[in-house]
Amino acid sequence: MAARASAMKAAGIDVIDLSVGEPDFPTPDHICRAAEEAIAAGFTKYTPAPGIPALREAVAADATRRTGREVKPSQVVVSNGAKHALHNVFTAVLEPGDEVVVPTPYWVSYAELIKLTGARPVLLETRLEDDFKLRAETLAAAITPATRMLLLCSPSNPTGVVYSAEELGVLADIAVDRDLAVVSDEIYDQLVFDGRQAASFASLRPGLAERTVVVAGVSKTYSMTGWRIGWTISPEPLAKAIAGLQSQETSNPCSISQHAAIAALQGPQECVATMRDAFQARRDLVAARLAAMPGIRLPNIGGAFYAFFEILPHLGRSYGGKQVATSVEWCEALLEAEQVATVAGAAFGAEGHVRMSFAASEEKLAEGLDRIERFLSSPSS
Ligand code: PLP
Repeated sequence: MAARASAMKAAGIDVIDLSVGEPDFPTPDHICRAAEEAIAAGFTKYTPAPGIPALREAVAADATRRTGREVKPSQVVVSNGAKHALHNVFTAVLEPGDEVVVPTPYWVSYAELIKLTGARPVLLETRLEDDFKLRAETLAAAITPATRMLLLCSPSNPTGVVYSAEELGVLADIAVDRDLAVVSDEIYDQLVFDGRQAASFASLRPGLAERTVVVAGVSKTYSMTGWRIGWTISPEPLAKAIAGLQSQETSNPCSISQHAAIAALQGPQECVATMRDAFQARRDLVAARLAAMPGIRLPNIGGAFYAFFEILPHLGRSYGGKQVATSVEWCEALLEAEQVATVAGAAFGAEGHVRMSFAASEEKLAEGLDRIERFLSSPSS
């Protein structure tokens, strides 16, 4: 949808693109300056495969400060974005035939990255009534002798839902009881609203860090999607295995981006608060407007920058003479009729829903929501 929206924009069409998964703010100045200084200082060569020591130390110090759990630099492997970090974990841990439990709706790359290893993603349904949070009984019933890993993402892409420490604790009990590894994707952990803080799975209580890999990075927190810096925080032996794998596959992540990431983690943090406040104001606008639209329901959005809304009552209707039966067809009809780009829930394993990003200005969002409202109330034809 993003590619189609770009093509329409290039053709001069007034498209409101709410399909994107990246902050719309520029990377803060002091981070860009650190990259310029890194080039001037000659940091343009290979680095150690798991990242330069200063960055691994900065990641470990930041995680320790924010979670209260002591993280050592030797547990950190810096990769080319959080997506690469996920690929590394799956490749290092999974064997063909293993099963990985993935609650739906899920971020699109999980299932594909798991399949690349020969393992099998086992997609578990969650309910809008539960804010799309995985129920303990659903998890327990899905575990087989082949289940190796549980994958969690909080705050969530695509739903924006944030698990509380208590809710994660219930899932942790099962993970311990059934001896599962847990991959906790915490890439949106600093984009949490209403003065709350994200709970980090590995730090919930003693004994969990040994079975947990935390995946995070600078992409979303510091608006650095293009710089490609993410990381894993894992038990040391796994960190060594991941570093070995990465050294063969891609060598180190970009040397200049690593210096920029140090500046991000160690520099002033007001930029994070400013972006978070802007996302929260947009969340308020988007959630209120969507909830007031006929037949639309959505969960409580506690973080990230997505609204994931149910369109079920609107499926089966005709738009512009065409019957719309699926979320893909609904998104296509919306793009055609009102030039608003969104992403179909089917892409996230949740038919009957649509994801809209609120990584856009309030003005654009208001216009996009007006158009969605007009589309929903357009007479069936
Ligand atoms: N995990 C989730 C849940 C995401 O939404 C994304 C990006 O959209 C990533 C991981 C990948 O982040 P990166 O750009 O650092 O690879």
